Amino acid sequence: MDKHFNKGKKVLMKLQQAGYASYFVGGYVRDKLLGIESSDIDITTSATPDEVIALFNNVKETGKKYGSVTVLMDEYKYEVTTFRCDIDYIDNRHPNKVVYSKNIIDDLSRRDFTINAIIMDENEKITDYYDSKKDLENKIIRTINEPTKRFREDSLRMLRAFRFVSKLGFDIEEKTLEAINELKYLIKNISIERVMVELDKIFRGNYRNKALKYIIDTKVDQELYGISKGLKLVSKIDQELAPIEVFIICFILDDINDVWRFSNINKRLIKQILDLHEVTKEDIFNRFIVYVNGLEACLLANKINVVMGYKDQEKLIKKLYSALPIKDVCDLTFKGQDIIWLTPLRKKSWISVIVDDLKYNVIMGNLPNDYEALKEYALKKVEELRLEMGDTDE
Ligand code: ATP
Ligand code: MG
Repeated sequence: MDKHFNKGKKVLMKLQQAGYASYFVGGYVRDKLLGIESSDIDITTSATPDEVIALFNNVKETGKKYGSVTVLMDEYKYEVTTFRCDIDYIDNRHPNKVVYSKNIIDDLSRRDFTINAIIMDENEKITDYYDSKKDLENKIIRTINEPTKRFREDSLRMLRAFRFVSKLGFDIEEKTLEAINELKYLIKNISIERVMVELDKIFRGNYRNKALKYIIDTKVDQELYGISKGLKLVSKIDQELAPIEVFIICFILDDINDVWRFSNINKRLIKQILDLHEVTKEDIFNRFIVYVNGLEACLLANKINVVMGYKDQEKLIKKLYSALPIKDVCDLTFKGQDIIWLTPLRKKSWISVIVDDLKYNVIMGNLPNDYEALKEYALKKVEELRLEMGDTDE
């Protein structure tokens, strides 16, 4: 991280040489003082976005509307934001107007929590306008200025408070917590995508359960579209869970709610694991289930089953998978193509009925995966099918 700090210093100094004030700020300074690695570096400056763009070669206009651009130094990103004072928030989330300022105190006063409003210069000198260092030492999350005002301006900050509990293990200061209690209904105004970004961070943090306990105690879980029971269960489990696993647990206990947004891949995975859970929670995994769903999905379903208090079948799943006579339909020694060669059957749907029959019997160990044995079985099935359906295939 020092390498990144040194490059960040260059960004600061270049801005200063051009006559602009500039500091490290936000999560980077907070984490540096706590001795934690930070994933990105925030810089705040009196230069406007256009002035920053004019100074550096490699700049991306990531959030220019809100005064933010990204300066790239050898692939590393520095988020450079112009001193701002936000006024007239609308819809409990967005400032009506972003006004640039030449005054650092304006900028710090619009930030969310005291621990996120410490500035550091290029010589690592700290300036602390909000007694932030005391809050860092005491592990306290406290809004800058009156919490109800700050949460009314932007209700996402309530979820951000839980995100920092989860990341840092800190406590939420009493008045800040009271304000969340009072204003939690405003969370409904936040777009679901933004809620999910915060929940993702809350679920991944080292202090997830502490954050969940706060969420439950303040009844914020009841503002989160039917995942309350799931969150209560997860808050009592020590195990690490990926965010999607937390959601699956929530959907087992509370039914899937259309409000939540997932990629198509994740939607399919959620549906698959919910179905697998239904089938295997009381019964055992068998070869066919393991074949159809694959090892990974079965192990995931098993992990969920165990979390929900059902028996652990991990060993059985692995044993079944490694003993599967075929892992894919292509592994059958007698294939659909052979049916076309050896019989008059042509209709695709009929051929696949026979192949599925072969596959099932091979997987279940009723037939060996042997060409002659499968051929004999298949020819018999073709005859049966033709008698049953009439000879209408040609
Ligand atoms: P993390 O380590 O999780 O990235 P962070 O503190 O860097 O935490 P960011 O979301 O990257 O959080 O935001 C950077 C800084 O911008 C914050 O530290 C805070 O000062 C300010 N900030 C971000 N979002 C808000 C908000 N909704 N209201 C007020 N200030 C905010
Ligand atoms: Mg950050």
